[in-house]
Amino acid sequence: MATLVVSLVMTGLTFFSLNGIQMEARMGDTRYARDLGLLLASNVTPLAAEGRDRELAQVTEDFWRASRSLRYIFYADPEGVIYLGIPISRVDGSNELQVSRRLELPPDLKERTQNPLIRQHLTPDGLVTDVFVPMLAGDRYLGVVALGINPNEAVLASAALTRDVTVAVFVSIWVLVILGAVFNALTITHPVKELLRGVRSIADGDFGTRISLPVGGELGELLEGFNDMASRLQAYDAANIEELTAAQVKQQTLIATMADGALLLDPESQVVLANPTARRLFRWEGRNLEGCALGSLLPSSLAMELQDPLEAVLSGNKDSAEVRCAMGEPARTLRLVLQAVRDGSGETLKGIAVTVQDLTREVELNAAQSRFISNVSHELRTPLFNIKSYVETLHDLGDQLTDEQKQEFLATANAETDRLTRLVNDVLDLSRLESDRVWNFEPLELPTAMEQTLRSYRLNAKDKGVTLELDVAPQLPRVRGNWDLLLQVFDNLVGNAVKFTAAGGVVQLRAYPWPDSCPLEPQDASSQLPRLRVEIADTGNGIGEEDCRRVFERFYRVENNVHTEAGTGLGLSIVRGILEKHGSRVQVVSELGVGTTFWFDLPLEQADDDELILKAERRQPSLMGV
Ligand code: ADP
Repeated sequence: MATLVVSLVMTGLTFFSLNGIQMEARMGDTRYARDLGLLLASNVTPLAAEGRDRELAQVTEDFWRASRSLRYIFYADPEGVIYLGIPISRVDGSNELQVSRRLELPPDLKERTQNPLIRQHLTPDGLVTDVFVPMLAGDRYLGVVALGINPNEAVLASAALTRDVTVAVFVSIWVLVILGAVFNALTITHPVKELLRGVRSIADGDFGTRISLPVGGELGELLEGFNDMASRLQAYDAANIEELTAAQVKQQTLIATMADGALLLDPESQVVLANPTARRLFRWEGRNLEGCALGSLLPSSLAMELQDPLEAVLSGNKDSAEVRCAMGEPARTLRLVLQAVRDGSGETLKGIAVTVQDLTREVELNAAQSRFISNVSHELRTPLFNIKSYVETLHDLGDQLTDEQKQEFLATANAETDRLTRLVNDVLDLSRLESDRVWNFEPLELPTAMEQTLRSYRLNAKDKGVTLELDVAPQLPRVRGNWDLLLQVFDNLVGNAVKFTAAGGVVQLRAYPWPDSCPLEPQDASSQLPRLRVEIADTGNGIGEEDCRRVFERFYRVENNVHTEAGTGLGLSIVRGILEKHGSRVQVVSELGVGTTFWFDLPLEQADDDELILKAERRQPSLMGV
């Protein structure tokens, strides 16, 4: 456009200058015509005044011949009638002047002797400059001499040439400019526009954009480079997305499988994410939490407790805060740790990560442990106090006591020492069972252990008038177990049976194979092996229904008039622990005044150690002391 405008201006200026030159040439022609006219007039006026027509014609002819540029010369009388003219011979030519013609001349022409009338007119042979010079002899007006002069051909030709060249130059400039514009549009503008579109698509994240134009040269290289860059970006993007997705999946899996609850809040403390554990702990299963304020989702008491620490973290006063609280029914103890999540620079708060730990089990374990310690201390204190009292009395007042009294005091102190020993042994047994010790399991003959137990209680039972019976199926398969532990089980159960059975009663030990086709509990169906069932039954005073459920708890003793026998309340817990180690479970059925039967199943010798350990782990009591 600029080139076109400049070329148009230049064309205008050139035409203007050419016009000037042509005007100048025309002025030159006019001056020449005037001078020629005045020269002829000064020569012929005296001849015309004297009527010397022949000489006039001669001079005129000479003049005509002398000048090449003259087209015509003619003379007119004062009335304007032409009486002489050159060329005169060719009167019939279509472009010849007619001598008989009369000229229409301006009336003031006779006054203009030094300033003749000059005009131009166009003929089929070209432009002609006409000069009309009045002839005056003194005051006498003799008529007009008129000359037709051809313009200066050389000047006109050069002007025309200049004009033509100029027109050609400018036309070629325009043609070039237009061609250039078309060429630009085809080879530069279109690819550049395509490139711009491509760059915009890339900027918008569409890395699949490619430009295919048949363009060579540097522009072609540029397009090729663009396509290359887009391919690399696309590959990089794909790899990045894959990596990001993998990382996201890992993180999500980690968060989803975390044992602790995890919440992510935005800076307005609205929930962005909650893992399954958190949903379970807060009873939010199946709810859409996104966009809900945390405070509105929690029970009001917890929301209030959480308000201050949450605000402290949100306002940036603290980076982390911790809250311990109880919620729900049954009450659960929760520990909430709030941690500010900041951006890379660490200045802007992006949200808050909340981890929720369920401390219920820990708290209950602690409580059970302290309960256990306090129970043990309590149980230890009584015999210790008794021993100390009796020994003190013997020491201080020994002289005043009779031998019988002394014997009685010593016997009591001895019995209390036994009780103390039993208690300490039982506690030790329990702690051994709860340790990570690996017990040695081996095939063993169960009837031998049963017989040994009964032997040790025979005397005691006889004293009490209780009958001990052993009812063992013949060819009993061997079991897999720990000899000492199983001996302790029999010892505790038979000891209790004898202890709580009155004279005339019977304590019976039974053992028989138990087929796996009829598993006692659904979870036992996992074992394909038959087992051995062991029963310890007595016809003693029995245990009430409520007590039956609790007799395996530590230190639980049925406190009523019937049970006045010495004991620690730990015996049955130990039995339960030992049988759990054997992948089994002790059970009881009892009726007050009728009797009690404890029973359990033992794995046969083919049992696999790993399976036993697995079962033992499954049967571990959920809480110490319960
Ligand atoms: P203890 O050392 O007191 O016997 P155990 O844990 O062995 O402690 O028994 C807990 C309680 O269960 C006993 O105090 C007793 O009341 C009751 N018990 C256990 N075995 C029998 C049984 N064979 N007959 C009646 N009661 C029993």
